[in-house]
Amino acid sequence: MENCIFCSIISEKIPAQIVYTDEQVVAFKDIHPAAPVHILVIPRRHIESVNVVQAQDETLLGHMVNVAGIIARQQGLEHKGYRLVINTGPDSGQTVFHIHLHILGGRKMPFRFDEE
Ligand code: 5GP
Ligand code: ZN
Repeated sequence: MENCIFCSIISEKIPAQIVYTDEQVVAFKDIHPAAPVHILVIPRRHIESVNVVQAQDETLLGHMVNVAGIIARQQGLEHKGYRLVINTGPDSGQTVFHIHLHILGGRKMPFRFDEE
C-alpha cells in the first residue's frame, strides 16, 4: 500500500533491523524501543487493524502469534515473560495503520489493565 511505512519496510524501500522473515510475516526492531526487547511482527499483506480482520485472516493472525513466541524464545524471554500488544484505534494510541504485534520484554511491565 502507498504511503504505508510498514509496507515500505516489507519492500525494503526503507531500512529496518529485521530479526525474522518468512513468506507471510516480517519482524523487526521497533525504532523507539519501549523495553530492552521491542520487536514488531507484521503481515506482508497490508491489513489496517484488528477492526478489519476477517475469518479468512485467522490463520495469518495465529501465525503472527506463533512467530512472536519463536522470537521471544530466541531472545531468551521464555522464563521471565513478555507482553504481546496489538493497539487498535485512537484510544489505544495506534499510530501505524498496518496491523502489528508488539513483543515487549526484558523488563517488568509497569501496569495491569485493571489498574489506572
Ligand atoms: P502503534 O502505536 O501503532 O501500536 O505502534 C507503532 C510502532 O511503530 C511504534 O512503537 C513506533 O516506534 C514504531 N515505528 C514507527 N515507524 C517506524 C519505522 O519507520 N521503523 C521502525 N522500526 N519502527 C517504527
Ligand atoms: Zn502497509
